Amino acid sequence: MLVPDAAHPVGQLGGNPLVPNGFQWPTCVSCDGRMTHLAQLSVDGRLLTAFQCENDPGMCEDWEPFAGGNAAVVFTDATVRATTPDGVLSYLPILVGVGRLDGDYSSVDDEDIFGQFGGDPSWIQDDETPDCPNCPAGPMRFVAQLDPGPHQFNFGDYGRAYLFDCSLCSAAAWLWQS
Ligand SMILES: [Zn+2]
Ligand SMILES: [Zn+2]
Repeated sequence: MLVPDAAHPVGQLGGNPLVPNGFQWPTCVSCDGRMTHLAQLSVDGRLLTAFQCENDPGMCEDWEPFAGGNAAVVFTDATVRATTPDGVLSYLPILVGVGRLDGDYSSVDDEDIFGQFGGDPSWIQDDETPDCPNCPAGPMRFVAQLDPGPHQFNFGDYGRAYLFDCSLCSAAAWLWQS
């Protein structure tokens, strides 16, 4: 079970992620373009990092967890602040805290903007919890859900993103529904 630390930010939306040395910025398998960094969350001492292709929103199956139009990576030794490649959409960085917010972002502090950390996902469509692609653990662990938020992330119409990791191995995945 995830135990959020209410006193500290759980991560960052947008901006540049912390990465390990030698990190290769992810590329979309559909369009061959570089992806955009969406979010990096601290989970059990690891950094769950989500990217999405924003080169042609809605055309690269970026809503699917394993179609290659998005990427989720878990880092255990991220010490370098990456630089978004030239020409790639980059969102302004916002630190996020624990909390839940539906709708109006205008009247709250940055640290309240998030979506939801831990708990149970609020699916818009059917439950699409993925199985771990790398080990026999079965269904992955729900970590967080993200609303489009102040960045207006491209999650379709009124969409929502769902982030997962594997509690047995270093796999991660995410998807969105609308
Ligand atoms: Zn693409
Ligand atoms: Zn696994």
